[in-house]
Amino acid sequence: MKVKKSRTNLSTTGQQRQRRSWAEPYKIKMVEPLRMTSPQQRRRAIQAAGYNTFLLRSEDVYIDLLTDSGTSAMSDWQWAGMMLGDEAYAGSRNFYNLEEAVQEHYGYRYVIPTHQGRGAEHILSQILIKPGDTIPGNMYFTTTRFHQEHAGGNFVDIIIDEAHDSRSLHPFKGNIDLKKLERQLKASRVPYVCVAATVNMAGGQPISMRNMKAVSQLCKKHKTKIFLDATRAVENAYFIKTREKGYGERSLKSILREFCSYSDGCTMSGKKDSLVNIGGWLAMNDSSIAEEARNLIVVYEGLHTYGGLAGRDMEAMARGIVESVDENHMRARIGQVEYLGQLLLDWKIPIVEPIGGHAIYLDARRFYPHMPQDNFPAQTLAAELYLDSGVRSMERGIVSAGRDKESGANHHPSLELVRLTIPRRVYTQAHMDVVAESVESVFRKPRKPRGLAMTYEPKYLRFFQARFRPK
Ligand SMILES: *Cc1c(COP(=O)(O)O)cnc(C)c1O
Repeated sequence: MKVKKSRTNLSTTGQQRQRRSWAEPYKIKMVEPLRMTSPQQRRRAIQAAGYNTFLLRSEDVYIDLLTDSGTSAMSDWQWAGMMLGDEAYAGSRNFYNLEEAVQEHYGYRYVIPTHQGRGAEHILSQILIKPGDTIPGNMYFTTTRFHQEHAGGNFVDIIIDEAHDSRSLHPFKGNIDLKKLERQLKASRVPYVCVAATVNMAGGQPISMRNMKAVSQLCKKHKTKIFLDATRAVENAYFIKTREKGYGERSLKSILREFCSYSDGCTMSGKKDSLVNIGGWLAMNDSSIAEEARNLIVVYEGLHTYGGLAGRDMEAMARGIVESVDENHMRARIGQVEYLGQLLLDWKIPIVEPIGGHAIYLDARRFYPHMPQDNFPAQTLAAELYLDSGVRSMERGIVSAGRDKESGANHHPSLELVRLTIPRRVYTQAHMDVVAESVESVFRKPRKPRGLAMTYEPKYLRFFQARFRPK
């Protein structure tokens, strides 16, 4: 099938919108060859991986859309910074560069590096959550909820109902339902509200500035804190700029600062927005929480001036933060996701709309309408896509949702999705065309699979290592 080039809405200015063509705001200086595989090789590989794309060897993958986490390409400026790593055990100059970059771009007073996002989630949960507490959040994220529950808390979803409907076109599906939040604030002990921007599990959907402001006012009234999951907050700022009235002319940097100002701190995975392969941080404005975090960090991550990272990693992250708010970078980053999504929409492939920030989410329920959710439609679809072309994606449905902490029953999330996650600055538009054609061919395949049965289930975060066999 011939690939139809679709219009991408890449620009915020009317004049540039007239143009259809666009290009990445960088050129390629170093290449990494990709390995092509035959259908027989892919069948053997997915069998050996127990039909779980997490268990495939990366060398058996052609285009890797498993995740955008730690898979981005660094710039020459970041690589140059790697050579300036100060590998002192304590007080590395790269720590101070990182601290300054976070303070300047995110606005929080205290900054503690961690090896990645979940390290920050662990420390924050241990400090703030007491057994029996409730932590309201705009949809769960796997590691975030795990650490909250591991500390004895209960996660409660307070996202707007539209987020659970893959067809709703609400421009800010990441928004918090203020009524749901107020009910929790009145009824339970809430140490903090966990706000994610953008919401990964809802399809990379943003939260509006207006909503964030209202959440902040409500939390002030009830004297509770807000901690942001800032992992993709710059991508969220881009959506505010392009979708929310009054922000079109503002810089991403100033939108990000304003957004963060409505929270008391954040956990951060630098492996997403900040364009590094490893790293994260915990930040806050409250000095006593910062002191407790510095106490815990030495036990679990490392000294408070390195938190499990090498000096060079902190330098790359400090520079990545600066690059992440570059307007051209973000326009091309989200523009590439939009390009892939628009191709699929043009071909009537069921995806989550509106198109989100970091990924396209295929609606597995509409690929396999007759398959019961207990046969793992999204897990099946991810395996089928790999078999078709060697494109690797990830399940975000019943497997990822796991089991209820108390009853042990499977959660049955309304969204049963396959995520095609786009690494930053790694693939070209031509790669996106290959992906779109493969998705279409799987969608139109006349013989539908019957699904999978789980043959091995790990105790925690089962989606990473579970194994399956075809039904
Ligand atoms: C990736 C991610 C995390 C966890 O970060 P890691 O660096 O993978 O530990 C937390 N929240 C969201 C929304 C994420 O996407």
